[in-house]
Formats: sequence, C-alpha cells, structure tokens
Amino acid sequence: MPIGTASILDGSRIASEIMLEIAENVRRLVVAGHRPGLAVILSGADPASEVYVRGKLKACDELGIHSEKFTPPMESSTDDLVQLVESLNLRDDIDAILIQLPLPVHVDAKKVLLAVAPEKDVDGFHPMNIGKLVTQRPGLAPCTPAGIIELLQRNKIEIAGRHAVVVGRSDIVGRPMAILLLNHHATVTICHSQTRDLAAITRLADILVVAIGRPAAITEDFVKRGATVIDVGINRISDRKQFDEIFSGDVAREKRFREKGSVLVGDVHPRAADIAGAISPVPGGVGLLTVAMLMSNTVMAAEMRMAGRSRTSPHAGRT
Ligand code: NAP
Repeated sequence: MPIGTASILDGSRIASEIMLEIAENVRRLVVAGHRPGLAVILSGADPASEVYVRGKLKACDELGIHSEKFTPPMESSTDDLVQLVESLNLRDDIDAILIQLPLPVHVDAKKVLLAVAPEKDVDGFHPMNIGKLVTQRPGLAPCTPAGIIELLQRNKIEIAGRHAVVVGRSDIVGRPMAILLLNHHATVTICHSQTRDLAAITRLADILVVAIGRPAAITEDFVKRGATVIDVGINRISDRKQFDEIFSGDVAREKRFREKGSVLVGDVHPRAADIAGAISPVPGGVGLLTVAMLMSNTVMAAEMRMAGRSRTSPHAGRT
C-alpha cells in the first residue's frame, strides 16, 4: 500500500527472507542432533502480550524450533519467577529464555531479567550482553534494534557516515538502537522526553528512528526531506476524534476502524511519508522483524551452546 511519496520499507518481505535463512540453520542443527528450544514466560494478563507471544510461538512452529510457554499466575512473586528462570537455565533442551514484558507491577522485572543465563538471554537485555554490544563483542543483541539494522541493510540504506537520530532511550529499543547504529559507523544523536526543540534535531537526521510510544507524535515537521524514517511505535487507538486527526481520508483504515473499533498507529504521523525518502509502515514494518530476529537469536544461542563458545552471527549487530 503506497504511503505518501516515500518508498515503503516492507518488514514482511525482509522478515520472510530472514526466516528462510533461519530455517536452513535449524535444519542443520537438527541434523547435528540438537533442535533449538525457546521458553517463553508470560505472567500477567496484558492482551497485547498474549498476541505477541502467540506470534512468537507460531514462528517457532514454522521453523521447527521447540517452544514451551509458561504462564505463572498473576500473583507470582519476583522469587517465584526467578526460580522458574533458574530451572530453565539448567535445562539442556532450552537454548533461549524470553520473558514477555511488561511483568505485573509488583514484580521486580530487572531482577527477573538478570536471572536469565546470559547465553540464553534471547532478548539481549542482560547487562553481560549489553556490555558485549557496547564493546563490540559477539553476543545476543536486542531483537527490535537488530531487526532495524537488517531492514536498513537489506534495503541498501547506507548507515556509515550518516547522521542517525534516535528518539527514545528505553533499555529495549532506544539505547541499544543508538549503540548498534554507532557500531555501524553512523553519527548518532539520542533524544528523549527532556530534549529541547526536538524537531530542530530530528530534522538533521538522515536516518530517524522513533520509539516513544506516542501515537503519530512525529509529524512531517520533524522530518528532513528524503530522510529514512523508522517507526518503531505500536499504538492502538480507538478514539474517533484521534482517528480522524491522524487518518482522515484513508479509506482502508476507515474501513478497518469501523469493523474493529480500533486501529494500530505508529509514533510517526502518516503525513511524514510526504517528506521522507523511505519509511517503515505500522503495521507491517519493524514489528515483524522483531519476531524474525528473536528466532535468529534463538538459533544463534543454540549454535553458541553447541559450539561451547561465542561466534559471529550472520545477522545484524553481532559483528
Ligand atoms: P518506553 O520504555 O516507554 O520509552 C519511551 C521513550 O520515549 C523514553 O525514553 C521517553 O523519554 C521517550 N519519550 C516519550 N515521549 C517523548 C516525547 N514526547 N519526545 C521525546 N521522547 C519521548 O517505550 P519503548 O519500550 O521503547 O517503546 C516505544 C514504542 O515502541 C512503543 O509504542 C512500543 O509499543 C513500541 N515497540 C515496538 C516494538 C516492535 O517490535 N515494533 C518493540 C518494542 C517497542 P524518557 O526516557 O525521558 O522518559
């Protein structure tokens, strides 16, 4: 579906390419006597998390990766979850452990994430893996930023020497994204909620990555003509007035909104596509790559465990 005049960075095409490559690696591991295994822990009752976990388990099925879902009750304590993680750390058939965030508010999420053995930390959130990322050692890189590097590289968008602006500094997206872009030789600026005159900075970006969780907040006024815009945001809107402000005149979205009562929107306003040179759509952009990179990391974790040592992945960011 065309958006404005920008070319579309199609996440589904790139994700399919990556999945095909991973399927081959899974076959090779199975022939060598080990089927990669992913454990997913889903605690709490967040409907979006349930959808994400379903997508991840489906991807495992498609690739022949063994997967197990654990749904500890909502009232499970930090210690209960740490114990579950520790039991999975010890299992030989589990190469990768994913803790679906957010955890219930009474749980110390950082403590639970820290309990994951670094070699099974498929999300790349463990300080050991973040340290490897920062110091450019082989390791597991966070899936969403790693997927964005794939999206850029496979669309032949040059990173080295370009000015990349990352809006958002979360541990999951913004910070590792900035480090990965730096590792790929971009000149990087990081912005956040306290940044002054955000638009003046984002307008300098050749590559603009937005991960703030604010529906359509980054309008065309924030974008330099011809820039590459990566929209990480996934926001569901159900308010009619807000829908009209963002999507007025979009017939396809109007139909979906009427049918479902809500639609997804990124952090970037659709009008930004009139200014950008290339843009990732929501849905159909970064989200699909996150799942593909999770599969890639699972296989990489299995390979590293089999080899008993780290090795360089064929995929992004693990240079
Ligand atoms: P987060 O933890 O809430 O972090 C948001 C970041 O944005 C913070 O650093 C915050 O600054 C900054 N921010 C908020 N409002 C801002 C504003 N008006 N101007 C500038 N910066 C602002 O969010 P997240 O986990 O990174 O997720 C961001 C979005 O990406 C969400 O929509 C989420 O659903 C989506 N997401 C998508 C994927 C995917 O696979 N596509 C994966 C993960 C997340 P401060 O640090 O100063 O508070």
